[in-house]
Amino acid sequence: MEPHVYVPRLLTDAAMREVRKIGLPVVVGGEDPPERAALLRDAAGAAAVVCTLTERIDAEFLDAAGPQLKVVANTAVGYDNIDVAAATERGVRVTNTPGVLDGATADLTMGLILATARRVLDGDRLLRERKPWVWGPRMLLGLDVSAGTTLGIVGYGRIGRAVAKRARAFDMKIVATPSRSAPPDDDVEFLELPELLERSDVVTLHCPLTERTRHLIDAAALRRMKPTAILINTARGGIVDEDALVEALRSGTIAAAGLDVFEDEPRVDPRLLELPNTVLTPHLGSAGVATRERMCRLSVANAAAVLAGEEPPTPVN
Ligand code: NAP
Repeated sequence: MEPHVYVPRLLTDAAMREVRKIGLPVVVGGEDPPERAALLRDAAGAAAVVCTLTERIDAEFLDAAGPQLKVVANTAVGYDNIDVAAATERGVRVTNTPGVLDGATADLTMGLILATARRVLDGDRLLRERKPWVWGPRMLLGLDVSAGTTLGIVGYGRIGRAVAKRARAFDMKIVATPSRSAPPDDDVEFLELPELLERSDVVTLHCPLTERTRHLIDAAALRRMKPTAILINTARGGIVDEDALVEALRSGTIAAAGLDVFEDEPRVDPRLLELPNTVLTPHLGSAGVATRERMCRLSVANAAAVLAGEEPPTPVN
C-alpha cells in the first residue's frame, strides 16, 4: 500500500491544497480532534503526519504509524505534545512552526494584560447586569499599565521579545529572565526568577513547557509576587500549578490572572471560572486569520521538504 499523508485535523483551505500537492494519498480528520483509537488507526502506514497540539505523539503513536513514517510536522511552536526522543530514536523528523505566530500571541498577551489590569470584564459584567450606574471617582479602579509599571517576562524568546516590544509603547519597565538564545536588550534588566517575581507588577509567561518548567509557578513562586500583581499565561497551562493559583487568587496572595492556557485542556477548572479576578480565553494565542494560514502552510512545507529528502525549514530534531 502506498504510504499516505495523515492530517488528523482540518487545516486552512490553502494549506489543505498544499497537502494535496505533495502527491501522496491524503487521510484527513475533521474539525475536532480524533479519538485516540481513530488517530492510531489512521496513522498506520503514514509517511508524514501534519498534526496539531491536541494530538499526543508518543512511542505508541509512532509504533502504530510504522517504520515508513518520516516526519511529524506539528502545527504549533510548542511541541510538548510530542515525545521528540522517541521520534529521534525511530529516525522520524519532528518540525514546528516558530516565528510566524509571535505577533499574534504577543497581541493577545497585551490584550490579557490590559483586560486584567483595567478590569474590562468587571465593567462588562456591570453593564450587562442592567443596574443603574454612574461614573465615580472610586469605581472599578485597576492597575495603571502605563505608569512605569514593571512587566516581568519569564522566557525572553521570540514571543517574550514581541511582548517587550509592545510593552515599551506602554512605557512599561521591562525585566526578564536570562535567555541563552536571545541577545541582551539595553532597556531590559535580566533577573533570576525569584527576584523577577518580587519586583514585577505583571508577570507574563513565555517559556516552553518542559520537565524543567512544569509548575515553575507554584505556591512558593506565587507567594513571592506582590499582592497587587497580575499573572498572565499565554504559554502552556502546565507551567502553572493551577491548584496553587486558585488558592492565591482566592486569598489575595496575588490580585488577578489572565489565562489563555490551562493545565488540563480543554477542561477549565470550574474554580477559575467562578473567580471574579480572572480573564480567561480558550487558547487563542495564535488565532488570527493570517497567522493560522502561515502556521498551517509552514507545517505542510516542513512535511513536504522531509518527504522530498530535503532539510525542513523549521526542524526540532
Ligand atoms: P522560544 O523563542 O524558544 O522562547 C522560549 C524562551 O523560554 C527562551 O528564551 C528560553 O531560554 C526560555 N526558557 C526556557 N526554559 C526556561 C526556564 N526554565 N525559565 C525561564 N525561561 C526559560 O519560544 P517562543 O516561540 O517564544 O514560544 C514560547 C512558548 O509559547 C511555546 O513553547 C508555546 O508553548 C507557547 N505558545 C503559546 C501560544 C498560544 O496559543 N497561547 C502560541 C504560541 C506559542 P533559552 O534560550 O535559554 O532556552
